[in-house]
Amino acid sequence: MSEFHRRDMLILAGLAAFAPLAAKAATARPQARLRFDGDDVQGGLVQGHIESGERAEVWVDGNPVRADDGRFCFGFGRDAAKPVLVRVRYDGRFEEAQQVTPKKRSFRFQRINGLPEKYVSPPKDVLDRIARDTAIVREARSHDSDEMWFSEKFDWPTKGPITSIYGSQRILNGEPREPHYGVDIAGPHGEPIIAPSPGIVTLAEELYLSGNTMLLDHGHGVSTSYLHMSRMDVRVGDELDRGQQMGLVGATGRVTGPHLCWRLNWFQTRLDAALLAPPRMGAKA
Ligand SMILES: [Zn+2]
Repeated sequence: MSEFHRRDMLILAGLAAFAPLAAKAATARPQARLRFDGDDVQGGLVQGHIESGERAEVWVDGNPVRADDGRFCFGFGRDAAKPVLVRVRYDGRFEEAQQVTPKKRSFRFQRINGLPEKYVSPPKDVLDRIARDTAIVREARSHDSDEMWFSEKFDWPTKGPITSIYGSQRILNGEPREPHYGVDIAGPHGEPIIAPSPGIVTLAEELYLSGNTMLLDHGHGVSTSYLHMSRMDVRVGDELDRGQQMGLVGATGRVTGPHLCWRLNWFQTRLDAALLAPPRMGAKA
């Protein structure tokens, strides 16, 4: 858990909105009921806690986010640099706002050579399929369910050495490509993949680049993705327990060998799954 610095926190709105009630409320209510934990770093999932049972509405940089039982979350992308403003309105009356600033990380370069050219520069006739795949994945990542599993601890989904981490700038066959957003675990072909936290399957499909691909919804826009599987054992709509087998490690799609590419998303923002799981050799930059 990273520490949040008090200097980043500002009480911006306070109790000014309803002047007749303000004096009474100021003595009756503690001012800062909003606190954060999780990872306030690039690629991190930040967890918000509202220390109050009352109804609260939450906005992150002006966009409403779901809050249930005093819990909400948001993510910082790989290149996030600016503070975000989190605003909470309690009981439709009192507002509190705090800024959260992402800490910078340094990311590596990774060169991969010898990939089949059809994957590095796909021919025109497969670009349509890739576009279709992208739309399917975006839809699966857009679920905003009221499940609270995102706030639980996550396990690693499979065994094996970490061979690539989040955020690396990839150079495929000498050509710069988009950063790698997963953590690659080079389990042997056929190694079981388990649900690292409870989740609902929202995607189980063979895609052109990522092969057999699954997505689990953990609530509040938080999802995890599982790429290149050799076998998928569960179906869309299934609710998985922590530790339940989802399928097997494979080498389907754009790969040089069997591995699981494991990813974490907050809606369309790609986060670092390794930050959620227990420390593991080679998993973090
Ligand atoms: Zn990967």
